[in-house]
Amino acid sequence: MLGGKVMTKSLQDSVSVLKGVGPSKVTALNKLGINTIEELLTYYPFRYDDMAVKELAEVADGQKVTLKGIVASQPTFARFGRSKNRLNFRFLVEHDVILVTFFNQPYLRDKVENGQEIIIYGKYNAKRQQLSGMKILGQTSQDFAGIYRANKDIKALTIKKIVEQAFNLYQDCLVDILPTSLRQKFRLESRRQMIHDMHFPASQKAEQLARRSAIFEEFFLFQLRLQYLKKMNKKEAGLVLNYDSQKIKAFSQTLPFELTTAQKKVVNEICHDLHRPLHMNRLLQGDVGSGKTVVAALALYATVTAGYQGAMMVPTEILAQQHAEKLQALFEKVGVNIALMTSSTLKTKKARQTSLTALAQGDIDVVVGTQALIQDDINFHKLGLVVTDEQHRFGVRQRQILREKGENPDVLAMTATPIPRTLAITAYGEMDVSIIDTLPAGRQPIKTMWLKKSQLNEALQFIDQQLATHSQAYVVSPLIEESEMMDLQNAQETYEKLREYYAGRYQVGLLHGRMTAEEKDQTMQDFKDGKFDLLVSTTVIEVGVDVPNATVMLILDADRFGLAQLHQLRGRVGRGQKASYCLLLANPKSDYGRARMETMVQTQDGFVIAQKDLELRGPGDILGSKQAGIPDFSVGDPIQDFKILQIAQIEAHDLLEQSDFTTNSENQGLWQYLRESGTLEENFD
Ligand code: ADP
Ligand code: MG
Repeated sequence: MLGGKVMTKSLQDSVSVLKGVGPSKVTALNKLGINTIEELLTYYPFRYDDMAVKELAEVADGQKVTLKGIVASQPTFARFGRSKNRLNFRFLVEHDVILVTFFNQPYLRDKVENGQEIIIYGKYNAKRQQLSGMKILGQTSQDFAGIYRANKDIKALTIKKIVEQAFNLYQDCLVDILPTSLRQKFRLESRRQMIHDMHFPASQKAEQLARRSAIFEEFFLFQLRLQYLKKMNKKEAGLVLNYDSQKIKAFSQTLPFELTTAQKKVVNEICHDLHRPLHMNRLLQGDVGSGKTVVAALALYATVTAGYQGAMMVPTEILAQQHAEKLQALFEKVGVNIALMTSSTLKTKKARQTSLTALAQGDIDVVVGTQALIQDDINFHKLGLVVTDEQHRFGVRQRQILREKGENPDVLAMTATPIPRTLAITAYGEMDVSIIDTLPAGRQPIKTMWLKKSQLNEALQFIDQQLATHSQAYVVSPLIEESEMMDLQNAQETYEKLREYYAGRYQVGLLHGRMTAEEKDQTMQDFKDGKFDLLVSTTVIEVGVDVPNATVMLILDADRFGLAQLHQLRGRVGRGQKASYCLLLANPKSDYGRARMETMVQTQDGFVIAQKDLELRGPGDILGSKQAGIPDFSVGDPIQDFKILQIAQIEAHDLLEQSDFTTNSENQGLWQYLRESGTLEENFD
């Protein structure tokens, strides 16, 4: 109590209320995503060191272990190299004598004495019977100690102390949030016990029990939120688009090919949604080349026959142009008026005025554009459907603004990022998903070869042969993780070398991430127009650019890329009539690296690759998975703990279906928690 005022504690208090947590520590914690006490208390250790004293016989080679014994020789101290040193002594553990070595901990020199009993934590080499000492422990240290992920501004041990303090102060606030019946059904621990044991388990067993509860809680809250959003979305009134099925049928007969079964299925799903008085929020997932554009065309056409306008938003100018051309060709016979709106087509005042007026008056049926479409002065007459391509490249905000230009138009988001089916449950949870799971028949496979780096010349000769037939080629320069600067240097070097190599024979172009959007578009356009025969590029060519005349892609140091990314890159070739090739140049050092290259050689199915990637690397590492919307879980692993995830999904669903779910007293703890933590932005009705 302060001056008669009761200070109530809340898990939503800022971590700054803790002793010793001043502005700089607050900033450091914020960087780890920790702002509140709740976030701090659910910031669990990422691993635990088993510090319990072990017997030598049960220690595996290379294992980190705690041994208790007696110093059995006079420790010797030696310096070597410039600033390195080593402390050696014999150590009697039960009846065995092993050698202990501490590197670069000179202060231990005065602490270790012959004959003394000590406990040492270190890494054991069984063959040499030697322990590389890491630290000397006191008698009272914790047997099973959590290690926290830290950063350069705050130490793991500091975090641990802060967590300890917070737990002691706030443990009374740790009330149960999951309904009792649910906790009993799955034998989950109380929240207080769970949080305690996640941080300070008395044993490995205690930690595992707590973890099971923590994973359930994390998945359950996540699912609850997703499904709640979905439910609210479903309740939202949407437009009823009374499209003309006869016209749509006639239109599909004008197409130069027959739709695949998969395409027909998704067109039906979309049309069903368009017609319903509910708001459509649908994701169309289909591998590169699976034919999403024509599906979008059918959806847009249906919208037009219902008397509404359609908009398609894509991330780059060149893609906008490409899509506009494709749609134009498709719509020609049915008299749909299509317009392209990008910053360059809207550049002059006059052109802008003409386009905007036409759009606002409804003279334009379908508009294709970049983010320029969301500018303030752009208005539609009657917007019925918004399509986005490569949707993960747009922020939620941008999609929202476009939606607001109509009266809650339906939304179709297209993506080529293949998400393994096992993960679809977590990604895109708030959207309905349509999947095109087969490619049109007769597609030329992209022959993929994996070459060793020493075979670079053979690869270049192969490219020569392709260029000689007037085909074009891509060379993707190695990816240097987290350094766009190095990427650029690399690309430039490769570019210079290839220019020299092809001097007087072929034209070489360069594309990289440091170029402005206009420069990139220009370079791609030049390549498309045949001004270059060969294009050296960093990964920026990834997004759906179509140069049908490009038949070969060489990827340097291919093992540095993720499988999903290699798949996306490879999809840039094989888009025309000619046979196409992908050459992967790589000397992977591990079995894992070799397995990845072999996967690329063996399959072209994006889903198979994504699944393989998942098995080989684990979900946290899938490249592009963040963009694709798979969230970072802190305790649960959507693959390993898939069963729990499924159960959590079902239980969250059932809970939301309860007719009295907001009033049921069993759920009060949960609602309070959801409200306080801002997990649900909107209120339950
Ligand atoms: P993506 O899904 O990558 O956007 P596109 O829509 O660009 O794929 O289609 C790739 C190519 O396949 C295009 O040239 C398109 O005309 C063609 N295509 C689409 N559907 C079919 C089909 N059912 N049969 C044959 N070719 C098709
Ligand atoms: Mg596409």
